[in-house]
Amino acid sequence: MDRIFTIAGPCSAESESQLLRTAEALRDSRPDYFRAGLWKPRTKPGCFEGMGEKAIPWMQRVREVTGLRICTEVACREHVEACLNAGFDLLWIGARTTTNPFLVEEIATALEGSSIPVFVKNPASRDIVLWEGAVERLMAHGIKDIGLVHRGFPSFGETLYRNAPEWQAAARMRSAFPGLRMICDPSHIAGDSRIVPEIAQQSLDLGLDGLMVECHVNPGEALSDTAQQLTPEAYKAMLAGLNVRRSDADEDDYRNRLSELRSRIDVYDDAILDALARRMEISREIGRIKKEHNVSILQLSRWDEIMERALRAGRTKGLSEEFVRSLFEEIHKASAASQK
Ligand code: PEP
Ligand code: MN
Repeated sequence: MDRIFTIAGPCSAESESQLLRTAEALRDSRPDYFRAGLWKPRTKPGCFEGMGEKAIPWMQRVREVTGLRICTEVACREHVEACLNAGFDLLWIGARTTTNPFLVEEIATALEGSSIPVFVKNPASRDIVLWEGAVERLMAHGIKDIGLVHRGFPSFGETLYRNAPEWQAAARMRSAFPGLRMICDPSHIAGDSRIVPEIAQQSLDLGLDGLMVECHVNPGEALSDTAQQLTPEAYKAMLAGLNVRRSDADEDDYRNRLSELRSRIDVYDDAILDALARRMEISREIGRIKKEHNVSILQLSRWDEIMERALRAGRTKGLSEEFVRSLFEEIHKASAASQK
């Protein structure tokens, strides 16, 4: 298995012994960095807000004892200064902070001149421009080693996830900054330790470069994010079960087969576009006839008929109902618009 980049450790630093026991148990899995939140940005007051600077020597002790590099979340200038002075190996900007350009600017200024790697989590709002802006602010202050953490986006109402993965947002960010490493934080997407492994697998299937996973020696007693933290044993089992695909391969046979299949796909794509263009032409013609006879554009019974026909044909060809339905909804929308 190819090795992936990993950050593992508890949501929060709670005590020296919790950190040491967790790190010792994780050492076997060789994470690239050991994480723990010192300052916890909590959505509601009254929750555990972290041990703050008091936990810095505990993290240093973890590094001394286990040899693991250490990282934490920073949310303002004071945090950055304290961590740089303490020799942290990596810092990250949390989802709530990424939403705030004033704080990001303050952090970027405080980081100036340092070569520490800095990861930026996606904002805790569905606005990826804020994510891009945070990265641009760091770049403008000369920060060179920048990474991205996809931790999902909040959504209204009950969903399967604590934060919806919205993979397309990760893909957009990926194309905006193709040179930056992007890892997934399946813990904050899941909110539930039972579904962390499947989200981790999905992120690797989509080509992300690694994982940040919350692990606690005793998740049931964690002071924050109790439900989503894995035990170090469960983390090790998850890594062993992950299928890490290579992003590319050199073998001639592989390349030849892939390039043949890709050209076949291109042929079908052209045919699809061609058929859509012809369909649209007919649809415009229908529009003209309706106008001549002063008939409304949208005739629901005809629309039902088209959809039913498409679903039936799709079923016989093994296409999913959901796919056919959304495809024809789009086609119908474009075709109705062309008749205006
Ligand atoms: C965390 O990593 O513990 C954390 C607070 O995450 P996020 O900023 O993604 O909510
Ligand atoms: Mn957390």
